[in-house]
Amino acid sequence: MSEVVLSAKNLTKKFGGLAAVNDVSLELWRDRIHVVIGPNGAGKSTLTNLLSGDLPPTSGSIVLGGHDVTRAAPEEISRLGLGRSYQKTNIFPPFTVWDNVRLAAQSRATQQPWNPARWFRTASGDAKVKERAEAALELAGLTSRRNTIAGAASHGEQRQLEIAMTLATEPEVLLLDEPLAGMGVAEAERMVELLLRIKSRHAMMLVEHDIDAIFALADHLTVMVNGTVIASGLPADIRSDRGVQAAYLGEE
Ligand code: ADP
Ligand code: MG
Repeated sequence: MSEVVLSAKNLTKKFGGLAAVNDVSLELWRDRIHVVIGPNGAGKSTLTNLLSGDLPPTSGSIVLGGHDVTRAAPEEISRLGLGRSYQKTNIFPPFTVWDNVRLAAQSRATQQPWNPARWFRTASGDAKVKERAEAALELAGLTSRRNTIAGAASHGEQRQLEIAMTLATEPEVLLLDEPLAGMGVAEAERMVELLLRIKSRHAMMLVEHDIDAIFALADHLTVMVNGTVIASGLPADIRSDRGVQAAYLGEE
């Protein structure tokens, strides 16, 4: 069953005189992948940072699962169910794949509101963390790589690991900034399969450049240029939009 999990209205972010994000509204629905595309500098990463609380908006509002999170800190937004990955990988290279995922699952546990039962951490609490980490590892297709040192894993596996770490926090909303960046064809295909496999559990927003992946994944497509949404709708409609072709797709 689909529902709106995150709703952003009229978001603007100014850096000095530059509106990096200019009056952008969007909704993220469970079981739908919303892909945001646009040329470099369009404001895609800034938009992601606004939704995750890493940057405060200049104006506009964000509601996540019924909570107004417009001015909330990233930890609070994460606790309310938003998980994100970054354009650059964010793993702990010296640790194993498993330890990375376990630590991510653990960080979620310690972000819960203060609660004496958790404060006196019990073995069963640790079991829950392990269970969550195990599930995330499996979903991300990394079970067989659990003992690999993260820094020695292939680039594609490191990006899978980032997704596993995000999944380990059991987010309702997933924001992924260019998860296919730097991948070869086979790695990219594996990542597309992974995203389709986990899609039904989450509302997902994806920033992506890979045209094949965009059209394989997108339920909804938003095109940004210079901070502004120039088109938003079904992928097939966007694909045939002449304005979009001229402004962006024509460049590919
Ligand atoms: P995209 O991810 O679409 O490539 P960004 O969101 O990274 O675009 O950047 C949008 C615009 O905002 C660019 O012109 C960029 O230089 C500017 N920008 C991004 N972050 C900052 C910042 N922290 N301070 C000043 N300008 C920024
Ligand atoms: Mg970017």
